[in-house]
Amino acid sequence: HRALHLASRPEGLPKDSDFELRESAPAALADGQIRIAVKFLSIDPAMRVWMTEAKSYWPPVGLGEIMRSAGIGEVVESKNEKFPVGVWVSGMTGVQDQLVSDGKGMQRFDAQRLPHPGWALSVFGATGLTAYFGLIEIGTPKAGEVLVVSAAAGAVGSNVVQIGKALGMRVIGIAGGADKCAFVKDTLGADEVIDYKNEKISDAIKQHCPDGIDVYFDNVGGEILDAVLKRLKLRARIVLCGGISQYNATGETRGPANYLSLISARGKMEGFVVIDYLHRAEEAITAMAPWVQAGKLTSKLDIVEGLPNFAEALRRLYTGKNFGKQLVQI
Ligand code: NDP
Repeated sequence: HRALHLASRPEGLPKDSDFELRESAPAALADGQIRIAVKFLSIDPAMRVWMTEAKSYWPPVGLGEIMRSAGIGEVVESKNEKFPVGVWVSGMTGVQDQLVSDGKGMQRFDAQRLPHPGWALSVFGATGLTAYFGLIEIGTPKAGEVLVVSAAAGAVGSNVVQIGKALGMRVIGIAGGADKCAFVKDTLGADEVIDYKNEKISDAIKQHCPDGIDVYFDNVGGEILDAVLKRLKLRARIVLCGGISQYNATGETRGPANYLSLISARGKMEGFVVIDYLHRAEEAITAMAPWVQAGKLTSKLDIVEGLPNFAEALRRLYTGKNFGKQLVQI
């Protein structure tokens, strides 16, 4: 049994030495328990937040504890008839190659029916639910409205772009670099794309959204949020999904200066956490499955091999090296 334990709280980007790989003999199963061989981990930007002492919707990971992670795996030993050997499950596996579980919080899924088992962690996992419920419930989208999405080539963002198009919105994606921007426009079908690394973001938003923005799905915060805040339409909604530009900041961070525009726009900026919607997963999957079947909603995976490369996989999110839903294969 190999597991990565949190060894120190990071300063800035997480380092390899913030984790310690420990090996131990596998525990024996008691009645009602299963052994899950973990196959893929979901690498999520919020992991950086869980590594700090900050209070969020989940408690911090304690020093010395196994690093928290969602994952999928196969049942390889079972004393629980609900989870026979050979079934695939998803849940909070932790960053380890196997775990013993009583099955609580583990969902069975049919890996054969997916283009890749990793889709249970992307479009049909928390990533897809975040995109779906964030846009539908918080963004209250309408056909013909202007939707701006940041980190648009990323896991959540790429789903939001495609759902926005499927709903008949005019979609402007923001991503870093020519390759990601081409993907957002040509593969995901965004109407326009802004390369925030090579364009002046406020000028580009003005150019592509001359009449303003109805819905902004924010994955990034910081300067991009500030630029969007200047161009809100009346009763605009901002879906506050994440603020990845701030997660590794050290010292003082400067917040948006333009948020008071929400007043004159009678606009709404609302945060949400996907865990509040997990009990409605079936509803989202039923709505998204036809889009997947029709080729309107695809899911790009970015797979790094090996448990010891977990920290490198995590860093890829904050440097933008990941191109698609970041997974670690074990
Ligand atoms: P992504 O696959 O989108 O990966 C992160 C991307 O963020 C990178 O690829 C990079 O894209 C972009 N990025 C990184 N640093 C910056 C920066 N300084 N400025 C602008 N863009 C940056 O990750 P996810 O889809 O998993 O997560 C996206 C967001 O959604 C995160 O903020 C996350 O915390 C949030 N989230 C929120 C949930 C909720 O319940 N509220 C649930 C799940 C995720 P590029 O190369 O284009 O810069």
